[in-house]
Amino acid sequence: MPLDFIPAVGSADFTETQARLLTLANRLGRERFAPRAAQWDREASFPFANYDDLREAGLLALCVPREFGGEGADFATYCMVGAEIGRFCGATALTYNMHICSTMWTGMLADGIAMTPGQRAEHEARRELHFARVVSDGAIYAQPFSEGSAAAAGRAPFGTSARKVEGGWVLNGRKIFASLSGAADYYGILCTEECADHSPDMRDTLYIAVPGNAEGLTVTGEWDPMGMRGTVSRTLLLKDVFVADQEQLMPRGVYYKAAQTWPAMFFTLSPTYLGVAQAAYDFTVQYLRGEVPGQPPVKRRMYPTKQIAVAQMRIQLENMRSIFWRVIHEACASPSKDARMRLYAAHYTVMEGANDIARLAIRTCGGQSMLKDLPLERLYRDSRCGALMLPWTAELIMDRMGRETLYEAGERDE
Ligand SMILES: Cc1cc2nc3c(=O)[nH]c(=O)nc-3n(C[C@H](O)[C@H](O)[C@H](O)COP(=O)(O)OP(=O)(O)OC[C@H]3O[C@@H](n4cnc5c(N)ncnc54)[C@H](O)[C@@H]3O)c2cc1C
Repeated sequence: MPLDFIPAVGSADFTETQARLLTLANRLGRERFAPRAAQWDREASFPFANYDDLREAGLLALCVPREFGGEGADFATYCMVGAEIGRFCGATALTYNMHICSTMWTGMLADGIAMTPGQRAEHEARRELHFARVVSDGAIYAQPFSEGSAAAAGRAPFGTSARKVEGGWVLNGRKIFASLSGAADYYGILCTEECADHSPDMRDTLYIAVPGNAEGLTVTGEWDPMGMRGTVSRTLLLKDVFVADQEQLMPRGVYYKAAQTWPAMFFTLSPTYLGVAQAAYDFTVQYLRGEVPGQPPVKRRMYPTKQIAVAQMRIQLENMRSIFWRVIHEACASPSKDARMRLYAAHYTVMEGANDIARLAIRTCGGQSMLKDLPLERLYRDSRCGALMLPWTAELIMDRMGRETLYEAGERDE
């Protein structure tokens, strides 16, 4: 179905639902999010007003399955909508991703993970409560897993622990870079179950929602970063935080299985940065044509060097869109090695490419474009953050791709 604008993922044959959701995201982004973006960035404050709009538009429930009252959007549709939001406010798109993952992982993704009948029944009952909070109460979920150790890279058990007690769990630990800190109604904490008979093991990872007002949970630390300032990603301290059994977002052992079998669950950070890249490109075209609202109508488009720079940016953007489009449609449980490599390559291409496009944009638009009253310098700073995000930082992707290309599973050198 055609749209009357070109979305960040590029023009394509969208389904009716995708066209409707993209149109909604584009309208909210253009009319509401873009005009507010400089404020969150300047203040390093959370975009509450944008979340009111997302809630009112029903977009907080985008990935809640239909039978629980949500939109039931699939993986590809979320990625398209996320990119469209990122085009207008990077911090809103990135935090929206954390919220959406809490519903996608427990929804569509969990449906494709093998569970025992007992686990499935437990999951069905608990997710009903969690989806109802989103659908009926407009609750926001955050997703803090980083701890400043090898855990967020998927190479060690989480240091945050959960001890089983009568009726629930007691959590202790510390999470860094918790986007939506102080703003979320629930924090989906990844932690390791304390087991008396063995030392901490990644197989014992638990995924548990901690209410924002739980006793023993505090938000600490400064937040004055280079980019993505509106994410307000401060530190969470958990000191003997009790949560009831019903707060478990996945049955024991299921998160570990999901992380092993559904690698695309970590690709969801990419859409935000495809949107940021599109925004840098959009601005550059407008600026060189002398069409930026509020700016003198000075044209710079007649210089061949500008034309070449825009062509370079467009080529890079098209490369990003193409690989992005392909991987969001082939995302599934247990992908082939070829598809997994493509997924890594797509993530790397988007994360590094976004910063490259923003860099080219500043270089070709020139000095005035880096002044704070225009959005480009913010896009440049925001675009730098994607490649730093675990578990798939640009470095770790190179690591994985190199190793997995040269070594088949189980192979070792003498
Ligand atoms: C804007 C923003 C928002 C964020 N929001 C969230 C959030 O909501 N939830 C959340 O959980 N996290 C979030 N993060 C955190 C992010 O995912 C990373 O955990 C964080 O950036 C890691 O920072 P670090 O300096 O501790 O990294 P380190 O762990 O010190 O790693 C530094 C670099 O070394 C490399 N490296 C790390 N481990 C290995 C290894 N085992 N082998 C080889 N190389 C390695 C990586 O390339 C990494 O970039 C956010 C980060 C940013 C920038």
